[in-house]
Amino acid sequence: MFDPKAFRLTEKESKLTSMARDIGAAKFAPRAAEWDRDAVFPMQNYRDMHKAGLLGVCVPEENGGFGADYRAYMLTAAEIGRYCGATALTWNMHVCSCLWSGPLSDDLEMDAETRDRHLARRVKHYDRIVQDGKIYAQPFSEGGAAAAGAAPFSTQAKRTDGGWLINGKKIFASLSGSADYYGVLCGEVKEGEKPSRKDTMYIAVPADAKGVKVVGDWDPLGMRGTVSRTLIFEDVFVSDDEQLMPRGVYYQAATRWPHMFMTLSPTYMGIAQAAYDFTVKYLRGEWPGLPPVKRRMFPTKQIAVAQMRLMLEQTKSIWFQAISEACADPSKDQMLRAYAAQYTVMENANEISQLAIRTCGGQSMLKSLPLERLYRDSRCGALMLPWTAEICLDRMGREALYNPGETDD
Ligand SMILES: Cc1cc2nc3c(=O)[nH]c(=O)nc-3n(C[C@H](O)[C@H](O)[C@H](O)COP(=O)(O)OP(=O)(O)OC[C@H]3O[C@@H](n4cnc5c(N)ncnc54)[C@H](O)[C@@H]3O)c2cc1C
Repeated sequence: MFDPKAFRLTEKESKLTSMARDIGAAKFAPRAAEWDRDAVFPMQNYRDMHKAGLLGVCVPEENGGFGADYRAYMLTAAEIGRYCGATALTWNMHVCSCLWSGPLSDDLEMDAETRDRHLARRVKHYDRIVQDGKIYAQPFSEGGAAAAGAAPFSTQAKRTDGGWLINGKKIFASLSGSADYYGVLCGEVKEGEKPSRKDTMYIAVPADAKGVKVVGDWDPLGMRGTVSRTLIFEDVFVSDDEQLMPRGVYYQAATRWPHMFMTLSPTYMGIAQAAYDFTVKYLRGEWPGLPPVKRRMFPTKQIAVAQMRLMLEQTKSIWFQAISEACADPSKDQMLRAYAAQYTVMENANEISQLAIRTCGGQSMLKSLPLERLYRDSRCGALMLPWTAEICLDRMGREALYNPGETDD
């Protein structure tokens, strides 16, 4: 998708994206319809990713992973999204447990003792992932204002001997019933104090711990293989070592490293590319398994493909720029660009997919072809909190017109 020479990718980026492309085309694409039809988690893809080392993509090299940084991960995930949206999206939830506790945390402030403890703790998580192929989920949505970053999480962590007691409920928990650990965002309970976003904790809850329940069904429009059911935590004991980030560091990350919330976008960047790729092959009469009927000679098709290519180029350019400049303490312009990139990817993936169906015609929306799945999957991107398309628009307008702390009073 991003030619290493044209986009001046690093050697690592080039190697990882090419590995993702190979495994995606050979293994994930042929299986994608099955996960979608039955709304089941793509476990076989995860076993293949473990074998290829991709479960530990952001685990530091000294801990046995590929040591991918933010951009290397984003580019690799886009290649996976091109072949199976549900795999790329759930892989994001898994990888965040390593990205946030790894390269992101390394950029944030901690005193020496806290950092030493954090480094010792994260190795346990990394070992599980790299050696045993354990899978981490990332449930933060609760159905209230917390997932948008507008209120403290209502799932609670209360201090107890040797660890924490977790109580609460998470909705839309992708990988529920399939992950080995749920990386839960929750609020630390402090006696006599009001809940605060500053007290957010990020803790890995073992899926088989007493008091963890998966409830409800999952029969959505798109991204059906994510199996994002509801999780209930009732007095679940979790030991201190399960903390994925030290106390207070998630809040620091959310405020100082905000590009962390763009990690849902590569899936949809990949879908946009896939819808374009399909259209070109289909109109040239080259889609495998279909009669070689060419439709490319009609000017209307050529214009539609030109429109799609325009949108794809614009989307790739702004997204590549935004992921390239991700850093701690971004400038106001960098923030506005990050929102613009997120909005553009999420909306254009769906727009490109709908143009693809219109121009390819009736046969292209049959379930025997991937386009109708791409169309349904692409619609889900704009809904992903905390940076939904609406929230990006809202923040761009406000933050462009007001400096921090400014009012009209
Ligand atoms: C396929 C899929 C997989 C998912 N996987 C996960 C997962 O693994 N983990 C997880 O935690 N969540 C996950 N989500 C959940 C997702 O991020 C949303 O929380 C979920 O869609 C539920 O949103 P809601 O309808 O309750 O949102 P609401 O809170 O009702 O918001 C509805 C809309 O209102 C707008 N809005 C909300 N709050 C504000 C605000 N403060 N300011 C301005 N506008 C606002 C937003 O645009 C939002 O889309 C997933 C969602 C999908 C679609």
